[in-house]
Amino acid sequence: MTLSKVKPCPFCPPDEALVEYVPHVGVRCRNCLTFGPEGADQRASVKKWNARAKEKVGGQIKNCPWCGEAAGLFEIRSPEAVAEEGFFVQCTNSDCCATGPLTYPLAAAAVSAWNTRRGEKG
Ligand SMILES: [Zn+2]
Ligand SMILES: [Zn+2]
Repeated sequence: MTLSKVKPCPFCPPDEALVEYVPHVGVRCRNCLTFGPEGADQRASVKKWNARAKEKVGGQIKNCPWCGEAAGLFEIRSPEAVAEEGFFVQCTNSDCCATGPLTYPLAAAAVSAWNTRRGEKG
């Protein structure tokens, strides 16, 4: 299924081909593994993905590129494999739940990737 009228990932070089819809999850970027805001179905997910909030920096971490709410740093800890540990920035708005690029192994890399907005100018 091809996605029509879906915007490129905000964190990656503009390329719509990298963006896909995953049923029951939402729109995601295959390049950086970002997940956009959750929607009830494909149309709702694409609509939320295409929304762009005004960029602002409250602290070290920029606001969510989709809904404009604050975002925080999270860590993935896999009990089995140390190699699975990584960091990502996630929107704190429970209606959005968008996640930024997944990075290993430094937290600073996740923040830097989240703060890099290449897809579009606000
Ligand atoms: Zn991306
Ligand atoms: Zn958000």
